[in-house]
Amino acid sequence: MIYFDHNATAPVMREAREAWLEATEKIPGNASSPHAFGAAANKALAEAREKLASFLDCHPTAIIWTSGATEANNMCLHHFVETLDAKSEIWISAIEHPCVHDSAKHYFGKRARLIPVTHDGVVDMDWLTTEMADMRPDLVAVMAANNETGVIQPWREILAICQAYEVPFFTDAVQWLGKMPAKDLGQCDFVTGAAHKFGGPRGVGFLKAPHKSKIHSLLYGGKQERGQRAGTENVPIILAMIAALESREKQLANNDHETRAVWKEKFEKILVRQVPGVTVVGATVPRLWNTVSALMPEGGQQRWVTRLDKAGFAVSTGSACTTGKEEPSHVLSAMGYKAGQVTQVLRFSSGWETTAADWEALEKGIVKVYGEVHHGK
Ligand code: PLP
Repeated sequence: MIYFDHNATAPVMREAREAWLEATEKIPGNASSPHAFGAAANKALAEAREKLASFLDCHPTAIIWTSGATEANNMCLHHFVETLDAKSEIWISAIEHPCVHDSAKHYFGKRARLIPVTHDGVVDMDWLTTEMADMRPDLVAVMAANNETGVIQPWREILAICQAYEVPFFTDAVQWLGKMPAKDLGQCDFVTGAAHKFGGPRGVGFLKAPHKSKIHSLLYGGKQERGQRAGTENVPIILAMIAALESREKQLANNDHETRAVWKEKFEKILVRQVPGVTVVGATVPRLWNTVSALMPEGGQQRWVTRLDKAGFAVSTGSACTTGKEEPSHVLSAMGYKAGQVTQVLRFSSGWETTAADWEALEKGIVKVYGEVHHGK
């Protein structure tokens, strides 16, 4: 079975497993305890904070550990609803992950306005610059890269606009981190990330907030994380996350992702040539080196997923799957795709361990499945 669903979750890498095991064996204490075991756990956390801060280029105390990005994203929006007045308005892109979109709607209702995107899935910069010149929201949230399409968002430009108007900027960097260099993300006021998308364990992530700010805790019952996030920190999985990110940053510094981008591009070209009726989503704009989102011909996405699964390839439809039932993609709808097209999309997302041969095997698998479906088998 070849795994092409890394944007959903990626396998835990060796470095992360080793860091987890070592910390589990050697750092048994609670970081809040007043004895030597506690001090050792606290020291390990402080070092992890420093490492993450050095990757993001921010102050270590700006980092708050969480159970993943869903919590971190909810925490950020909860913080804003607690601090802003009842008339305030926030703007979020129309393609945010449901954990940003739904919590923004939950906390702000109609006061959470959607920033439109172009047909290629990039935030509409004309809309943003025109609207911002007219009126200031109290927060702008745009993800760094989209989980369904891999389309990279112009977060640096948006950050610059927000800075010019003194509007806080929040970016969900879950799909960016570990695939693209983390540097500069620390300049955004709020940043979130999750370990399991880049080779760390599931159930751990972080929120980077402005240095010296005091974030309203979502959880009550403990003073951990300087009173910003109650609950005993899980030291081994935090250290495993940092070990994974450190390895990914080394690979990125080595430009290892550029070779992988070539394999993906070759796959895309052959796919379009060999399977009539395929459309690559966001084909003309910069995208992550690992993600291909494509509208497939001959039948709905579920049929393709099942057939490819049987043929030995784990692929997905890309949209939020919570109960085992896929929801139609709000991302493709925001990009202007029609209802019939939205249910045709497949997402192929590779990882660092995916090889050129894996991409070639996938391409052959798709051509074979297409032939079978086309001839009614
Ligand atoms: N944000 C984005 C862009 C994601 O892709 C995901 C996961 O799919 C999340 C947030 C949620 O992250 P977690 O699984 O850590 O809660």
